Amino acid sequence: MPDLVRDRLYFGDINDAIAALTGPLPDGTDITHVLSVVSSASISFIADCRPGLSIPAEEVRRVVAGEDGAPPSAVAPGRLMRVVEKAGQGLRVTRMAVPLRDTEEENLLDHLEPCLDFIDEGRKEGSVLVHCFAGVSRSATIITAYLMRTEQKSLEEALESLKEINESVCPNDGFVEQLKLFEEMGFKVDTSSPLYKRFRLKLLGQSYKIGEKIGSHVLEDDPGVSRQPNPSQELSNIETNKTAYRCKKCRRIVAVQDNVISHTPGEGNSSFEWHDKRKGGHTYNKEKDCSSLYVEPLKWMTPVEDGALEGKLSCIHCGARLGYFNWSGIQCNCGSWITPAFQISKSKVDISII
Ligand SMILES: [Zn+2]
Ligand SMILES: [Zn+2]
Repeated sequence: MPDLVRDRLYFGDINDAIAALTGPLPDGTDITHVLSVVSSASISFIADCRPGLSIPAEEVRRVVAGEDGAPPSAVAPGRLMRVVEKAGQGLRVTRMAVPLRDTEEENLLDHLEPCLDFIDEGRKEGSVLVHCFAGVSRSATIITAYLMRTEQKSLEEALESLKEINESVCPNDGFVEQLKLFEEMGFKVDTSSPLYKRFRLKLLGQSYKIGEKIGSHVLEDDPGVSRQPNPSQELSNIETNKTAYRCKKCRRIVAVQDNVISHTPGEGNSSFEWHDKRKGGHTYNKEKDCSSLYVEPLKWMTPVEDGALEGKLSCIHCGARLGYFNWSGIQCNCGSWITPAFQISKSKVDISII
């Protein structure tokens, strides 16, 4: 029997899912919405117990592997993988599946908002079951985030509240860090936040470490291309009054402020510091003595695509040397290690306002 967490909200393991899909719960409740957060193999397995809810293997593959060399879809799977079955006496079951392994490197954060919205919607229409394989880590992370968002609870309070219902819940350390980040971003996933950018870069560093191919799809858009001046077109408000870093030699834009990943001067490995918003709050001012900028990997950094561990970064327009990248990190002159690092020397760029 799955655990009742809140009115119309249950959570459990894979057996609970199979039971819920084949009949009412022992307490008589019909589950109308099932959220499966399991590996792709388990998604197909569960589907077998109720063929109307099966998710085509092709769709699962597309989400796990990505299409045409693109990264696995992040927010998309929620939308992609919804299946609705009308069974018997007008009972309608809606199922959403997110293929995710229970490892610290998995990016659960990007799936969080579609999952929480699905739970909200399900509770309005009926009863929801959130499950993973063992009912310990992945589903507990989703439920914890749900309690955080709907009840404005801190991570600690939400997790404590869930442990009162089932003491074996235990999100893995990587998921706990992602939940902390979710709390710091105000119970939402703000992809423009510096905290989020540092998280993405850290995950990217981990994928490099385990040998995943770094293709151009992981590189952020080149600000020098998307902002080529077009005399017939006024710059939009969004693009004005932004700090841009231009190659000193040819004036081409190499980065804008949004690309900069701040670090805390003089502290340990910044990849372990991203969750500390108090220390990171005023880093722009504090970084004034640092001789380099650290940015997201950008599309003009073509040597990054060759898969080398480290290399030079040169201006794609004039060839001037701008900096260096190293997946295993670079130590800033302030003492902080930035890992992975895409570094631009401040002496090679001019700061201007777009
Ligand atoms: Zn240049
Ligand atoms: Zn520094």
